[in-house]
Amino acid sequence: MVSRVIPVDPFDLIIFGGTGDLARRKILPALFRRYCSGQMPAEARIIGAARAEHSTAGYREFVAEAITEFSDGRSCDDGTLDEFLTCIDYVQIDARGEGGWSELVNKLTQDRARAFYFSVGPGLFGDLAERIRTHGLATDNSRIVVEKPFGHDLETARSLNATLAAHFKESQIYRIDHYLGKETVQNLMAVRFGNVLFEPLWNSQYVDHIQITVAETVGVGGRGDYYDSSGAMRDMVQNHLMQLLCLIAMEPPAKFDPDAVRDEKLKVIRALEPVLPYHIVRGQYDAQQGDTDAHPSYREAVDNPRSTTESYVALKMEISNWRWSGTPFYLRTGKRLAAQSSVINVVFKEAPHSIFGPDAGRHANVLTIRLQPNDGITLRVTIKEPGPGGMRLVDVPLDMTFADALGPEGEYPPDAYERLIMDVMRGDQTLFMRGDEVEAAWAWTDPIIEGWETRGEVPKPYASGSAGPDEANLLLSRDKRKWKGINP
Ligand code: NAD
Repeated sequence: MVSRVIPVDPFDLIIFGGTGDLARRKILPALFRRYCSGQMPAEARIIGAARAEHSTAGYREFVAEAITEFSDGRSCDDGTLDEFLTCIDYVQIDARGEGGWSELVNKLTQDRARAFYFSVGPGLFGDLAERIRTHGLATDNSRIVVEKPFGHDLETARSLNATLAAHFKESQIYRIDHYLGKETVQNLMAVRFGNVLFEPLWNSQYVDHIQITVAETVGVGGRGDYYDSSGAMRDMVQNHLMQLLCLIAMEPPAKFDPDAVRDEKLKVIRALEPVLPYHIVRGQYDAQQGDTDAHPSYREAVDNPRSTTESYVALKMEISNWRWSGTPFYLRTGKRLAAQSSVINVVFKEAPHSIFGPDAGRHANVLTIRLQPNDGITLRVTIKEPGPGGMRLVDVPLDMTFADALGPEGEYPPDAYERLIMDVMRGDQTLFMRGDEVEAAWAWTDPIIEGWETRGEVPKPYASGSAGPDEANLLLSRDKRKWKGINP
């Protein structure tokens, strides 16, 4: 199947933090791939801006190296890379100083969409927003892109929102959650709202429970300092898992329009029940047996022998509305787990009465939405086991792996950053978090974290390469349910 690529209009994109890790690994390779696909026009300008001194030629060399290293074998020929590099420019700017801004002004083209990507720590967002405004760089057709973490709690998120709102309208602010840019996440909406099959069953009458798992095999790596002051709840649940939960649970919006979608997501967050302490399990990984040097324990990795920060969290959540009352959502995420796997399982109820007798066993349909790896959707249905010997039932998958279903183009679904940056340039905010959504998510998260702190809770240890602490199994076994396996 040949995909239709609709080119975006020529734009100016300024990447503050253009020499940083995120720019190198994600933003620049994503732009290159959109250039190769024909979506980013040759007239577009990408201007790196950071504190380091670079000539334009020197920065282009930096960009070429980043693309060669991080393009996942999706690069096109050398000639195309050279063409792409002619779109790249650089200006040395300190977000807290005045130098470099007039040079940046001169590099921009009037009357085209302009985006300022804040790929720097949140401590600089206010300085950047203010200087963009005072140096006259913000036009009506300008927008800013801000990275996670968006706040550390409700208070800091509110203050960050207020800082940005002092200089930009909400319709100009794009808060990135790269989970929302994943192809399968958008497919979740297509499956729910583009088919008649699922929506009538998408409620507590037919859905027994829903599991959302985001498992990583990596540890905290070089992010120890940041991670130890954050933990899995802030780093993953408050944003990524919450966004997935919203897309699964929200009511159908009247149209696929940014505010209509985000209004429905917000209603889900506001309908969340507070989580009871015994409905949450926190964990912290141990060193890997037999390989403690390469894979140290969490506490060693963050160099804090007394750390009580969680690298794993599992919780049972309940949504108080007509659709979901009585259907629990079980969420879990963690580092150094058995496999890299992001999966949503919608587990339907068993048929109300089995006509096949006790030997047929118990069966329930499961809709599995795999975000990574091998993105795709599987529906497990119950059929007769082939062969003579009576009516034995077996569950088999109806499988839609996108790479198989969509042909060569499907083999390389665009990386989330490709999609999201193009959406920014098109001015489409559907897949970006609105300020009130972020604040509502923190308002739900804060009491949970405060509870841990007040009670002096210490995370349960779990073995590296496992499915997490054993206590997490209790969350489901108490309800006579089981986690699905964490498989690659
Ligand atoms: P980094 O430390 O690698 O890079 C920071 C960049 O900011 C550098 O280009 C640096 O020159 C620039 N910078 C720092 N101070 C500056 C100043 N005063 N004026 C102008 N430029 C300045 O950081 P990173 O990993 O690229 O992360 C950038 C942001 O993106 C952070 O907010 C981070 O939390 C977020 N983020 C990063 C990742 C990732 O994978 N790296 C993922 C998600 C979110």
